[in-house]
Amino acid sequence: MPKQGGGTHVEVCPPWCTTDHTSDTSNPTFLEDVWHQSDVTRTEIELTNDADAPVPWTVLDACLSVIPHSADPASRVPHVAVQFVEEVWTNPLDVNELGQLIDTVAAQLDNLRALQRKLAAARAEWSTAAKGVVA
Ligand SMILES: [Zn+2]
Repeated sequence: MPKQGGGTHVEVCPPWCTTDHTSDTSNPTFLEDVWHQSDVTRTEIELTNDADAPVPWTVLDACLSVIPHSADPASRVPHVAVQFVEEVWTNPLDVNELGQLIDTVAAQLDNLRALQRKLAAARAEWSTAAKGVVA
């Protein structure tokens, strides 16, 4: 690839990279802008700010990445960054840090499942109580 400032550089993609590097190879490129990424795993949840109708937001968007010439050492090795909601990302995570994040999110999912059970009980109780109130 042509380097910004002159010369060329041979960059080898890791086997999991699915990035289209056409813009890197067709234009002079700063090496620190070369970014290898895997396919992204994502899901959408409808969210609202209460003023507008709910719209789908991408949440927990993540992919395997490496930015081999980055100034940030954590980005120069394969890592995962998780985009919690649009434009809100974690720092580059190593294997242990990703495990801690998964544990944190899984614990919160457990809390949500417990809340779901409480909701089901509250709904059932509410339904029974409402029947008694209706005149
Ligand atoms: Zn690549």
